[in-house]
Amino acid sequence: MPPIQEIPARQGRAVRVDGGQALQIINTFGHQVVDFWAFDARNLGAYLSMEHTRAALSRLTPRAGDVLVDNRREPMLKFESDTSPGVHDTVIAPCDPARYAKLGCAEGHASCADNLHRALATLDLAVQVCPASFNLWMNIPVLATGELEWRETVAKPGDSVVFRALIDCIMVMSACPQDVIRINSGRPVSAQYAVLGPAPTAAVRRPRATARASPTSSTRAR
Ligand SMILES: [Zn+2]
Repeated sequence: MPPIQEIPARQGRAVRVDGGQALQIINTFGHQVVDFWAFDARNLGAYLSMEHTRAALSRLTPRAGDVLVDNRREPMLKFESDTSPGVHDTVIAPCDPARYAKLGCAEGHASCADNLHRALATLDLAVQVCPASFNLWMNIPVLATGELEWRETVAKPGDSVVFRALIDCIMVMSACPQDVIRINSGRPVSAQYAVLGPAPTAAVRRPRATARASPTSSTRAR
């Protein structure tokens, strides 16, 4: 079993996930939203894009089995599995200091945007922007009138999602510290993650060894 790491309540974590590896994110207590981002490890200007993924899927919310694309419309991740009811959000911007100021909070309230930058800094990385996050387990139904509702998650304790990296990625998670509105049931808590090895089906098939040397190599040998 790969080691399971903690995302402390109200904090973020960043991890490198090479192509072929996967990241499992666990909703330990079942009522926590986790904001999620992925960046191309070779070019942080290329990142998982909610708007481009919605266009690629013709759907508001990705489902297990979907390929998620970056802001160049290139495949970046496979949403490999989801043990939760599949209620996630791609519409709402990650919370940030301005959001909490408008909600009347005192300065210094933790935010997902700050968590993104702090988590990247632990890997000596930085980005100028905070892209739209894939808001795991955030329950924002779009009503027939077009209005949005802010509801509590419907995830169960221990529900998890797995994202398989199709390229070398930096992935970032934030245990959302929102405690003013009820998206985290008013009690932001910790979550967990684990980096998983390559899937058995993704193993590279080696060419069968041949007894004879090729003409080129035998010529060279002479
Ligand atoms: Zn947040």
